[in-house]
Amino acid sequence: MQDNQLLTPIEYLKGVGPARADLLKKELGIFTFSDLLSFYPFRYIDRTKFHKINEIDQNAAYIQLKGRLINMRTEGARRSKRLIAQVADDTGKIELIWFRGVTWMAKYLQPNEEYIIFGKPNYFKGRYNIPHPEIEPVKDELQNVGSNLQPVYHSTEKLKSRGLTSRGIMKLQQQLHLKLNGQINEFIPPIIANKYKLLNRKESFCAIHFPEDLKVLKKAQARLKFEELFLIQLRILKLKLNRDKLKGHVFENLGDNFYKFYNEILPFELTTAQKKVLKEIRKDVLSGTQMNRLLQGDVGSGKTIVALMSILQAIDNGYQACFMAPTEILANQHLESIYELVKPLELKVELLTGSSKTTKRRDIDEQLLSGELNILIGTHALIEDKVQFKNLGIVIIDEQHRFGVEQRAKMWKKNTIAPHVLVMTATPIPRTLAMTLYGDLDVSVIDELPPGRKTVKTIHRFDSHRLRAFGFMKEQIKLGRQVYVVYPLIKESETLDYKDLMDGYESICRTFQMPEYQVSIVHGQMKSADKDYEMQRFVKKETQIMVATSVIEVGVNIPNASVMIIESAERFGLSQLHQLRGRVGRGADQSYCILMSGNKLSNDALARLRTMVDTNDGFEIAEVDLKLRGPGDLEGTQQSGILDLRIADLARDTPILIEARYSASELLNSDPDLNNTENLLLKNHLTDYNKRKGNWSRIS
Ligand code: ADP
Ligand code: MG
Repeated sequence: MQDNQLLTPIEYLKGVGPARADLLKKELGIFTFSDLLSFYPFRYIDRTKFHKINEIDQNAAYIQLKGRLINMRTEGARRSKRLIAQVADDTGKIELIWFRGVTWMAKYLQPNEEYIIFGKPNYFKGRYNIPHPEIEPVKDELQNVGSNLQPVYHSTEKLKSRGLTSRGIMKLQQQLHLKLNGQINEFIPPIIANKYKLLNRKESFCAIHFPEDLKVLKKAQARLKFEELFLIQLRILKLKLNRDKLKGHVFENLGDNFYKFYNEILPFELTTAQKKVLKEIRKDVLSGTQMNRLLQGDVGSGKTIVALMSILQAIDNGYQACFMAPTEILANQHLESIYELVKPLELKVELLTGSSKTTKRRDIDEQLLSGELNILIGTHALIEDKVQFKNLGIVIIDEQHRFGVEQRAKMWKKNTIAPHVLVMTATPIPRTLAMTLYGDLDVSVIDELPPGRKTVKTIHRFDSHRLRAFGFMKEQIKLGRQVYVVYPLIKESETLDYKDLMDGYESICRTFQMPEYQVSIVHGQMKSADKDYEMQRFVKKETQIMVATSVIEVGVNIPNASVMIIESAERFGLSQLHQLRGRVGRGADQSYCILMSGNKLSNDALARLRTMVDTNDGFEIAEVDLKLRGPGDLEGTQQSGILDLRIADLARDTPILIEARYSASELLNSDPDLNNTENLLLKNHLTDYNKRKGNWSRIS
């Protein structure tokens, strides 16, 4: 009954009405009372804490000031128009700058008025300014809250023009609380709520919007974070439970292929981590249910061998296998290395990509259907419905982040009983993110590198030292090594990027002249035959330098390459930098990664480059990446609606996430369909929650 009230459309709230309701939906995704209730403040003004203007220094992050507007002017015209407002307190003056919403802001600000200002100071030409601060007249502070903490809500220009500033939204929250009159049901089962001493739901909502003090605010935040993560985990684990019921092929025998490979072909001893993962996979393929496993392992940790040995188990039991890679270059490489490795086994291995010739395709199709073809390697061309197998037993997907969840699901349909799926990723994913994004997969980790690897030495150099970098390249080439030089390729500025690449290529060709030096180039606008040709020249050591865009990012394995030069390194994300660095250090020689950058670096860019210089640990890098960028920006997270988080922060709330996951899993173990009396409220809430999720996806 009361929960129905929470689903009331937002236009029925006093003070909203159709026009505002429309804006709330479009701008903030608020459709119902419930949506408004969980539209949380993103920070609180602590009215006891203000910075003095003369205390601002280089290290200041976000700060709060109180100052009087002493003058205001616009500069520039049309597109470069900006508003500059000067405010002063009793210690000094500072400029506030707006590049967007100039007209509205110029009207909103009143000379001589006193304001509370919140923002991140910027140091420019010997002075500080604050771009796009939040700003609110001191007189608008709520006087009646009886607390020093005043909530601040996100708003947008359109909302503000309708009176829905942060303060306007706060008024709506007050209306809503009056209307609901405390009728907010608890739905977390008592046993869990007690165990983690969770503040109840009603008090939590009250305290998050109108905190009396910091202590109760913290408790409210903890509870609402738990609630959010708990619901997500329940959904994911439910998905997993349903999937775990799916029948799977049983690879009962370890046969000739597996043993011959293991005893006679495998050129090295497996690492302990590789053995551990193989055991985990073995257990899955014997279990009678379908395997859905994520294999995480840093670049060069030896995932491919593990995949191949899983494939051999399938073949020994009369099944076929396919191996999917994100690019043609990689698919090609996998083909070659796997082809070499299984040569003595007399297996049939083929390659299928978008550029396979029609006649070749026909042969492959026939052999797939007759069962003659054992292993099919390829790109996303493998997903197409027309690729049909006689009896597909296992699918390996390399470098997960290039493939979406749906593509994974398509592979299941290629046999009446869904094949086992092993997803491999070299992009280390922080544990919290893995639990959330791939929470429906079982996870295996290869956490050690094969013995004898030397860690790559990483150096950061400014562009002005390019000649020294060239000198170093010459030394290394003299020692017989090969060098990568990589340029960024960011979609929006493709033409500019190609210009950079070609300019760089020309300058390298001038410095490294033929016939002493040979230079290869590979980039996305080349035909794939030309790419292959250039790649092959480098593989065969006919060229010493490979100039490329980030297409070589993933998987390429050339042990003799010992230097990786990354141009404009400040433009790459951390995980990409780490991937690129992983291209070297694959042989016995000491390898080097040189990060080239301009002199002007943002704090974040500097933090990324420092992290690269300081550590080679992919998981540490992934954690820093998560902190710097936030999970929404990490590769692979965009396609997932799962990360629609309103309050929890995967980088900071790891302990809560672990509790939430554990509780959700315990609960589903004891009551999988949530039919026990004490879980019924939760069950109802989940149903509503799923409806609301539907709403959100409509607007995004
Ligand atoms: P990943 O795919 O995890 O980046 P690969 O499977 O390409 O790594 O392995 C990287 C290199 O290490 C390959 O040349 C592979 O033959 C080699 N390798 C794999 N496992 C071992 C091992 N246990 N001992 C020595 N070398 C190994
Ligand atoms: Mg690999």
